[in-house]
Amino acid sequence: MTIKQLLFELEKWIPTQIAWSKDNVGIQVGEVESKIQNILLALDLNLEIIEEAKSKSANLIITHHPLFFNPARSITSNTLQGKLTIELLKNNISCYAAHTNLDSVNGGVNTTLANLLDLKEIKILAPLQDSLCKFIVFVPEKNVEQVAEAIHSVGGGMFLKYDKCSFRTKGTGTFRGSSDSKPAIGKPMKLEYAKEIKIEILTEQWKISEIIKAVHENHPYEEIAYDIISLNNTHHNFGLGAYGSLKKKMKSIEFLKFVKNKLKVSAIRYSGNISSVSKVAVCGGSGSKYLLNAIQKGADAFITSDISYHIFQEYSEKILLIDAGHYETEHHVLPSLQKNLEKIIYNHKETSKVHISHKMKNPVSYL
Ligand SMILES: [Zn+2]
Repeated sequence: MTIKQLLFELEKWIPTQIAWSKDNVGIQVGEVESKIQNILLALDLNLEIIEEAKSKSANLIITHHPLFFNPARSITSNTLQGKLTIELLKNNISCYAAHTNLDSVNGGVNTTLANLLDLKEIKILAPLQDSLCKFIVFVPEKNVEQVAEAIHSVGGGMFLKYDKCSFRTKGTGTFRGSSDSKPAIGKPMKLEYAKEIKIEILTEQWKISEIIKAVHENHPYEEIAYDIISLNNTHHNFGLGAYGSLKKKMKSIEFLKFVKNKLKVSAIRYSGNISSVSKVAVCGGSGSKYLLNAIQKGADAFITSDISYHIFQEYSEKILLIDAGHYETEHHVLPSLQKNLEKIIYNHKETSKVHISHKMKNPVSYL
């Protein structure tokens, strides 16, 4: 299995299309046609992690934060980014970033954090917008299963615990081909009434070109009638942040201690004159901009990081606002990433090992 094939499988879980538009997820450095050896996971890249990859015979490092978040104007040993890139290339190690797409999936940063806090009935705090469309195609009755299967095989009609979702209605299609047409049903120049099925499928917009290709390869008609309709529906599978309820209501002070204990942190910053907590929202990393979503969902507490003084000040009457640290709210995702990669490797009968780095460093220290 090549690195490219492994990443193709991984992106079925964390599609790059769901990442923030200004993010830079995906392959950062490397030769993706190389055969996959072992894999090393980390939040950020540093030189010790590249050494660790070498010692573990890993030729792929997957980090959460992209090596190239801002476009590089040069790659030299004068910058850390340049040094890291040179080391990766010298050692034939590829580097891949799973960032806001890993934040936005089930089993990603946010639902992992919500699960760590034992929340129940976990839902997405800010579901992905403008990503869905309806694909409608008209198919002769005898070809319905073949065309529907082709659409499903490229991911159409697949949501949470369900796949192969479609709606079908019977009808009559009419057409008349010109003298140089080759109709699959009827004859050129003759008006035809064909028994057809209208197949409706809900899908993500980024799958549309693959769906059209699959339909063209499996539909008998020379000219295929289909519609693509953009929808305002929010996506239930993808989005940032998560929220849910505690198993039992806690006093605020009790909850703050509970968070410290669950996240294994020595200190947290917080504000809020809230007496008790039962509904909790989370957003791993810098999630202040989802604070209003948390308030709107009725959360008593919101846990994120990089909260500014003025945000603490402004919302102290509305919610228990907790800054538990950027690193501290994100690194819990790595075992989930490891598990998903191990599943892919097992399914492809490969023997690669997936390691979580022991050389990760939280850039922030507490005294
Ligand atoms: Zn982050």
